[in-house]
Amino acid sequence: MIDGTATAEPQTVSRRSTRFRRGEFHAFAGDGAPFVYMTPSAAVYRLDDASVAVLDTLAQGDCSPDELAQALRSRFPLPEVKEAIEELVRIRAVEAFLETPRKAPPAELPAPSPAALQRASGKRVPLSTLVMNVTSKCNLSCAYCYEYGEDRLSEASDKPRFMDEPTARASVDFMFAESGDQKLVNLTFFGGETLLNFKVLKAALGYARERGATLGKRVEASLTTNATLLRSEIIDWLVENDVGVTVSMDGNKEQQDTFRVFKGGMGSYGTVAPNVKELLARHTRRPVGARVTLTKQNLDVRSIYDHLAHTLGFWEVGFAPVTTSWQRDYAIQEDGFYDMLTQFQSLAAEYLEFALAGKRHKFSNVRDTLEEIHKGLNKSHPCGAGMGLMGVATDGDVALCHRFAGSDAHKLGTVHGGVDHDKQQAWLAEHHIATKTDCKTCWARPLCAGGCYHEAHTRYGDTHRPNLHYCEWIRSWTNTCLEVYGTIAAKRPEFLQQFD
Ligand code: SF4
Ligand code: SF4
Repeated sequence: MIDGTATAEPQTVSRRSTRFRRGEFHAFAGDGAPFVYMTPSAAVYRLDDASVAVLDTLAQGDCSPDELAQALRSRFPLPEVKEAIEELVRIRAVEAFLETPRKAPPAELPAPSPAALQRASGKRVPLSTLVMNVTSKCNLSCAYCYEYGEDRLSEASDKPRFMDEPTARASVDFMFAESGDQKLVNLTFFGGETLLNFKVLKAALGYARERGATLGKRVEASLTTNATLLRSEIIDWLVENDVGVTVSMDGNKEQQDTFRVFKGGMGSYGTVAPNVKELLARHTRRPVGARVTLTKQNLDVRSIYDHLAHTLGFWEVGFAPVTTSWQRDYAIQEDGFYDMLTQFQSLAAEYLEFALAGKRHKFSNVRDTLEEIHKGLNKSHPCGAGMGLMGVATDGDVALCHRFAGSDAHKLGTVHGGVDHDKQQAWLAEHHIATKTDCKTCWARPLCAGGCYHEAHTRYGDTHRPNLHYCEWIRSWTNTCLEVYGTIAAKRPEFLQQFD
């Protein structure tokens, strides 16, 4: 028998001239038990001994039913082998095929045409998240920042540095107009430093909530800030308006002050830490998270985590490597990625210990991946950019996401004139996972789907390119999360209910 997290349609197995071969999956262990992650369906199954033996036998080459039964008859009764084969065929870990051709073709996913994609998506994907760049200005000058650094995308010279209130209101109208039948919309404020334009941000959310009430839609609000400008009145407003907050912060004083400095070069830790403490003490209705940018110079994940999770007390801590061209001084090089992986794995092991003891751990990278595995996410595109998520620049131009906001080359429309849906659909079709030749045979593609477009643009100058520089990292990290998932599924399955 096979226990699984998803079901598959049964396939008919004809014994006559049928042969079997292995399907496309990734095998891993959880709590010492064998599991498979099914690439085509993104489902996870735990295998019994007979199923493992069938897959091991097929690893040597394809077999007829009789050959398979013959190979396994000394270890398992025939009905058990038969049942294992039927189950493996049902979940597609084994493919049944007729005598010829004998060789398994590579997994081929047909690239959809824009028209097909439009038909499949029921004309258009409704907008669920609008990221409003209320300013492109910042009071810090972090060298690695994509907005200010050497990798900047936006043509800022002719664009206002601050969004004005009419544009913010038009953005809110645009969000509702593009949200279709969705009853929940997410409005996220981004920058630059968002709080430099607090007045407009405040007005935009007030207007969004008012319009949402009239339209019968709920508005979830959140913002990202560097926390240098958090004052008591702002914290009051965040609490009263139930606004989720993510603080961009890189660790303890030494770590934070490596890059996160004011224009004059003074470190920001001394300003940020007391503000964060006040925020965490008072904003308790919504979890407040820290988002860390890892660089070559700041890669001690463990001590960053300990400081942010324990010393400061953030609800959760998430890490992302800096997005940059590999030549930059702060770019993480190959040995750095390995180091980062080892530290992520150690935190993931701690997360597992906590989960098995029924305790909450704050490492959000593992939590987010477990949720994706549990939900059986099978991505056609790496993220929602240009689909359910769009970014608005300070002048009202609409782009793929906040990181492309202000880039004319990645513009999809304006909040005044709406989205060019033909352009959007063509863009989505061009960036579908099926168009990424290198990803077609990769078992991690349901979760990775080629990776961030912004990163690809920064690294290779082309949003179409998969981020092949970190494939090994992605596959190792995904395998780690699968092992954590499998172990929890085996030992404390009720923990996974939070992801239902
Ligand atoms: S970018 Fe690499 S890891 Fe991601 S799906 Fe493509 S081949 Fe796999
Ligand atoms: S393109 Fe990159 S930065 Fe933009 S939403 Fe996707 S993953 Fe995030």
